[in-house]
Amino acid sequence: MKAQPPASHFIDGEYVEDIAGAAFDSIYPATGEVIARLHAATPAIVDKAIASAKRAQGQWAAMSPTARGRILKRAADIMRERNRELSELETLDTGKPIQETIVADPTSGADAFEFFGGVAAAALNGDYIPLGGDFAFTKRVPLGVCVGIGAWNYPQQIACWKGAPALIAGNAMVFKPSENTPLGALKIAEILFEAGLPKGLYNVIQGDRTTGPLLVNHKDVAKVSLTGSVETGRKVAGAAASSLKHVTMELGGKSPLIVFDDADLESAIGGAMLGNFYSTGQVCSNGTRVFVQKGIKDKFLSRLKERTEKIIIGDPMVEETQLGPMVSRAQLDKVFAYIEKGKAEGATLLTGGGIPNDVSTEGTYIQPTVFADVTDEMTIAREEIFGPVMCVLDFDSEDDVIARANGTEFGLSAGVFTSDLTRAHRVVDRLEAGTLWINTYNLAPVEVPFGGSKQSGFGRENSLAALNHYTELKSVYVAMSPVQSPY
Ligand code: NAD
Repeated sequence: MKAQPPASHFIDGEYVEDIAGAAFDSIYPATGEVIARLHAATPAIVDKAIASAKRAQGQWAAMSPTARGRILKRAADIMRERNRELSELETLDTGKPIQETIVADPTSGADAFEFFGGVAAAALNGDYIPLGGDFAFTKRVPLGVCVGIGAWNYPQQIACWKGAPALIAGNAMVFKPSENTPLGALKIAEILFEAGLPKGLYNVIQGDRTTGPLLVNHKDVAKVSLTGSVETGRKVAGAAASSLKHVTMELGGKSPLIVFDDADLESAIGGAMLGNFYSTGQVCSNGTRVFVQKGIKDKFLSRLKERTEKIIIGDPMVEETQLGPMVSRAQLDKVFAYIEKGKAEGATLLTGGGIPNDVSTEGTYIQPTVFADVTDEMTIAREEIFGPVMCVLDFDSEDDVIARANGTEFGLSAGVFTSDLTRAHRVVDRLEAGTLWINTYNLAPVEVPFGGSKQSGFGRENSLAALNHYTELKSVYVAMSPVQSPY
């Protein structure tokens, strides 16, 4: 299987190679095959990408939002027409099953282009401020060259979620995908260009943690939007602060999902499974601490075990497959180490914990895993695992569970399952998180702001709120009479 792109980078409307950059392989996680060989960007490539973005941005910003939106909407249409091809590429990049990528990856990227392409004409207006004769008005202006840095779990979605609001607001973007999943973003750049985006406005360069700082520290960059771990977030936000760049930080989590005795049991179990096993558990907002009220604990665990053991694991290109491999050997090893820690610290391994039968031994597969009797102090309840490992904890009272749910440095997401409407609202009011769900989990439509609080980051993606993070306000005071000067 090969997925070799024409070159490593896409700059100024064309593919560009520079073999002086360190070579790295793109590996298909299901088989371990090398599917492409690429080169990380050299400082010269970084400069070229930023210079091209800078050149293109002024004219783009001068176009009407409607004209910019038309191009984004065309890109959305092309993405939908090529959904299968893009989904297969996403599966090759990540190992996620085609059953998922076909409904969740290019389609959610296309949603972002469609949404921002459609709303811009109205959403970028300023205000008129009457001052009794004089008046003022505000203009929402683009920031300039914005950098996007992506994680490996949703490569195409992240490339679009950052690109769409940046572009519609009149910015240019230079995007660096994760070194684990370098392929999808190049296709997004190609499609944007085909849809009519002038060259230079969406450039993609490759590289890893040594390349990222070249972008973050560049003097011609106005903003950095990162999706990644908290540790990387601290470094990137710190570097950006030294030159006062705007930042959006979409970071990790250890989110609570609370199931009360009165919840619809099958629905809550379905939500917990989706919130732990989708994308082989590699979702930042996953509800990895599942708090189950004691009255339903036994029933919850026995049905959860039964349903988890029926999950179809295997070749991600087969439509029936529900769980693919992890993105890389390094990530797999990390998850197995957490499983060992869980066992050593006394959690009960309810199911999983090993390598599934009947899968390629070269692939990075792992069984969906559930630990029960997890306590708050255990490592698996405190640290982000980023794999298909669910921790079930039990609780007695509402007050107790809220305090424990909030007892973490993270604050990305949270969920509650209950049939008591007032309790649901009371609980979400008290949970410290940026993105919350009542009686469902992990849905993130483009219309709704998405992002975290506490150490999970700041800024929001999606919805009109994202536009605030890719623009700044200019206030203009207009005098209607001569200046009254005492001098
Ligand atoms: P990571 O932090 O290792 O890498 C993220 C990106 O940052 C990569 O492109 C990497 O090359 C780059 N990078 C690393 N060090 C850098 C530096 N010093 N300067 C600039 N760039 C640097 O994360 P990952 O392993 O790719 O992804 C998993 C993490 O991402 C998890 O913690 C997960 O929760 C988080 N995540 C968050 C969201 C969200 O929206 N909140 C979404 C997906 C993933």
